[in-house]
Amino acid sequence: MSATTTSSHTPMSAQELDQFRAQVRAFVAERLPQQVREKVRLGIEPNKADMIAWESELRDRGWLAPHWPLEWGGTGWSPAQRAVFQEEMVLGHSPELGGITFEMIGPVLLRYGTEAQKNFFLPKMTGVEHFWCQGYSEPESGSDLASLRTRAVRTRDADGSEHYVVEGSKIWTSGAQHADWIFCLVRTNTDVRQQEGISFLLIDMTSPGVSLRPIVGIHGWPLFNQVYLDKVKVPVANLVGEENQGWTIAKSLLEFERLNLARVAENRRRLAKLRSIGETVEEAGVTLFERPWFRRRFSELEVRLETLAATVLRFRVRAQSGERLGPETGMLKLVGSQLIQDIAVLTVDALGPQTLAWDRDAHFELPGPDTEPPLIERHPYAPTASSRRFVTRGYTIAGGSSEIQHELLAKQVLGL
Ligand SMILES: Cc1cc2nc3c(=O)[nH]c(=O)nc-3n(C[C@H](O)[C@H](O)[C@H](O)COP(=O)(O)OP(=O)(O)OC[C@H]3O[C@@H](n4cnc5c(N)ncnc54)[C@H](O)[C@@H]3O)c2cc1C
Repeated sequence: MSATTTSSHTPMSAQELDQFRAQVRAFVAERLPQQVREKVRLGIEPNKADMIAWESELRDRGWLAPHWPLEWGGTGWSPAQRAVFQEEMVLGHSPELGGITFEMIGPVLLRYGTEAQKNFFLPKMTGVEHFWCQGYSEPESGSDLASLRTRAVRTRDADGSEHYVVEGSKIWTSGAQHADWIFCLVRTNTDVRQQEGISFLLIDMTSPGVSLRPIVGIHGWPLFNQVYLDKVKVPVANLVGEENQGWTIAKSLLEFERLNLARVAENRRRLAKLRSIGETVEEAGVTLFERPWFRRRFSELEVRLETLAATVLRFRVRAQSGERLGPETGMLKLVGSQLIQDIAVLTVDALGPQTLAWDRDAHFELPGPDTEPPLIERHPYAPTASSRRFVTRGYTIAGGSSEIQHELLAKQVLGL
């Protein structure tokens, strides 16, 4: 991630780092809107208005894209400061910031974008004006992404202006319902090896020919979308890098993505919630923490999280010193996504039947003003625990499945 970093700071002393931590904690406590904090605490999904409200606060403080170069709105913080910032944000119940915008397309434009692209798009991202989504996967191309078929044909209008006409469909597109722009991998040459005929295009979601079909997850929310591209005209100026070199850009973006997909901060938040469950929920007359089965599983998760956090920090230090990270970042994604699933499973196990959806009243009578309250008192984290568990099932698939990560690590890192 060399293109995204400019820090030349000398490392902070432990005392300075503590002061910095206190500063971030105070800011989150004061400025994070109360209703957003409460939603995140209870595992309820913040909506776009919530995100705009919070990101605007961070924008005004200059903390929305801390890892970007100073001239593009970054902070010049060290990796240790960034880790502290992320930790305090999470522990203060801040929602996850737009990872697709700030961790994927932003860094790609910083590295590969033209000056015109950087000048137009980057301020819109840090200004909370543009939300982005990622158009890689297709109905027939997921793990085997290089086989993608969405076609982009370069044409010239009578007035001499050049554009691509894009035809095809993207699927599993997270957040497309809120996005203003989508970055897409498209096929611009069918006569060469698959990887050599792909280009990277930026498409305005309001362009004629773009339409969406929401896809509802197992938990009942519209989690992602299918995006249809029906003869969409895209100016040639929206091509990133050279035509047919999109595969190189796609791979470098996946490195940024996988560093982020370790989800250290999110894992920390969920483990903190699980700790508070362990400390308050009782079983057989004692708290769960005093029950060996819970304590053992919790401690294992905690150790796994701390080793992951230390490893991510090492990678970030390497990236900050200008080193290009390779396929080994897949290891972080592999470990972090499995960890989050295991935390979600223990949360459900700890809360037990409280996490089930209840249809007792629906079973016997129509609900009305006299409908009896539930028979079991529910822990505040119980209502969303099961749906959270189901959602995390997707984490070992999104961004490249665990099987694919194993294969890449075996071949490209271990040389097996
Ligand atoms: C929550 C979530 C959010 C997502 N968001 C986005 C998004 O915003 N944008 C986007 O472009 N995509 C997104 N995706 C799509 C994701 O990238 C793909 O689902 C993923 O790459 C797998 O592709 P597939 O679903 O087509 O499965 P397939 O590739 O069909 O794989 C099916 C199964 O076969 C296994 N498999 C496939 N090939 C091999 C192999 N060579 N060796 C061993 N096992 C193999 C896989 O591991 C998997 O278990 C998202 C997915 C999820 C779950």
